[in-house]
Amino acid sequence: MCGILGMLAPYNIAQDLYTGLYGLQHRGKESAGIVTYDGINCWHHADMGEIAMVFRGDILKNMPGPVGIAHNRYSTTGESEPRNIQPIRDLWHGQEFWVAHNGNIVNSDDLRKWCQGRGAILETTSDTGVMAKIISLTGASSFEEAVITAFPRFRGAFSMVILYMGRIIALRDTFGFRPLSLGQKDGAYFVASETGVFSHLRAKLLREVEPGEVILLGPMGPITLKKFSSPEKKFCIFEYIYFLRPDAKVFGRRARTVRERMGELLFLEHPAQGDFVLGIPDSGEDAGRGFANISRIPNGRKVILRTHLTSRTFIEPIQELRERGVELKFVFFEENILGKNIIIIDDSLVRGTTLKKFIARLRDAGAARIDVRISSPPYRFPCHYGIDTDKIASELSAARYQGNIEEIKKWIGADSLGYLSIENATKAIIEIPGETLGPSDFCTACFTGNYPIPG
Ligand code: AMP
Repeated sequence: MCGILGMLAPYNIAQDLYTGLYGLQHRGKESAGIVTYDGINCWHHADMGEIAMVFRGDILKNMPGPVGIAHNRYSTTGESEPRNIQPIRDLWHGQEFWVAHNGNIVNSDDLRKWCQGRGAILETTSDTGVMAKIISLTGASSFEEAVITAFPRFRGAFSMVILYMGRIIALRDTFGFRPLSLGQKDGAYFVASETGVFSHLRAKLLREVEPGEVILLGPMGPITLKKFSSPEKKFCIFEYIYFLRPDAKVFGRRARTVRERMGELLFLEHPAQGDFVLGIPDSGEDAGRGFANISRIPNGRKVILRTHLTSRTFIEPIQELRERGVELKFVFFEENILGKNIIIIDDSLVRGTTLKKFIARLRDAGAARIDVRISSPPYRFPCHYGIDTDKIASELSAARYQGNIEEIKKWIGADSLGYLSIENATKAIIEIPGETLGPSDFCTACFTGNYPIPG
C-alpha cells in the first residue's frame, strides 16, 4: 500500500506536497519522496523513513517549482530499500520523467524480462520501476501517447501519478482497485490517493479519477486524455475496512460512516451481551462505536489508553517486535476491567498478533469474559493488488485454520468469536447514500479467493 500525490499550482508547491503527504502517511511509512519541476530542472528529495524525518531542515526551501509529485511507500513487490524509494526516475527520448504508484501489478516479472530482452537495465526491484521502464521504451508521438500505449500492458492494480516536463498525468487501472481523487483550490489542482489531503490543503474535492481514465492536469484543470473501458469495477473492500483514513471519501461515502455501519451489522449478525464494547484503537473504534450504539451496550473506550509510542506494529519483521509493539501501543486500566464481560471489536484479524496479545492483557487485568467480533470476514487469501499480505501468506491465521472459527477462537483465547459476513460487509458500503453500487463492484479476493485478475 502506498500514498500518491500530484500538484500543479501558480506558486511553488513543495510545501503543499509535504503537507499533503501527511494526509497519506498512514498508507506507507517505509519511505517518502517529493520531486518538483521549475521549468528547467527537477528537484528531488527522498529517503527511507517517515515524512518528518525525511524532510528535515531547509530541504523544501531548496525545491522550487509549481508542479510536482510525491509518494509514501509501504512495500509490496520489491524490498523495502533505498533503490525502490519513489518517485522513480526514468527517461523518455532523453527527457526525464518521474513516477509514483499505488497498487501492485501481477505481470511485472514478464514485463521485466521483456525490458531486459531489449537491453534495458533496471535499477529497482519493484513493479513500479518496471512500469516506468515500459513507458520509457514505448515509442509514440508524445509522452502522453506513450503512457496511453503502455497502459494496457499493465495487469493489476495501479493508481499512478507521473511528472513530465511540467505536466502531471494521472491514471487508474480499469478495475479501480485503489483510490484516486482530484481536488482544487485557487487555481491549483491536486490528485491524491485520499481526500484527506484536500482537507489539509483546504482544497475541495472535484471528483474521483475514473477506473480506466488517463488524466492530464493542466492550468485549466483536469483533462481526460483517454478513457479505457471498465467493464468491471473492483474497488478494494479492505480499503473501506482498514486502509482509508476515517475521513476519506470514496464513491461519495466516508470510511468512518461505512465502518460504523459495519459495526451495527456485526451486532445484528453476531449479537453479544456484556458490560461494555471495546473497539480496538485506532482502526477498530468506528465499528466498535456502531456496535455499541445499536446494541445500547456502553462504549468502554475509556478503559484503555492508546499511546503513540509505536506506529505500524503489523509491519515489524519479527514476531517478538510485533508483540512488543502491541504491548507499547496499549495501556489497560485494570480497575475498570476486573470482573467485567467485555466485547472486543477489531476491523480485521490477519496474523492474530493484536487480538491474542490484547486478550491476554485483558485476562491479566481480571476480565471475566471476552467475546470477540471482527468487522470483516476471515482474511484467508493473500492480496496480489497492493496489500502486503502476499508476503505473509503462510502466516494468515484464518488460512492456517482453514477458516475454522472455533479453532481461531481457541488460539486467540476468546470465549466467542464472530466475523462479519461478506454480504454484510458489502451491504454496509452500498447502503450508505452515494454513487450507485452493487456487491460485485468490490474486490473481495482476500476473503473469497476470487481474484479478478489471475496472479
Ligand atoms: P494482526 O495483528 O496480524 O491480526 O493484524 C490485524 C491488525 O492489524 C488489525 O488491528 C488491523 O487494524 C491491522 N492491519 C490489518 N491489515 C493490515 C496491513 N496490511 N498492514 C498494517 N496493518 C494492518
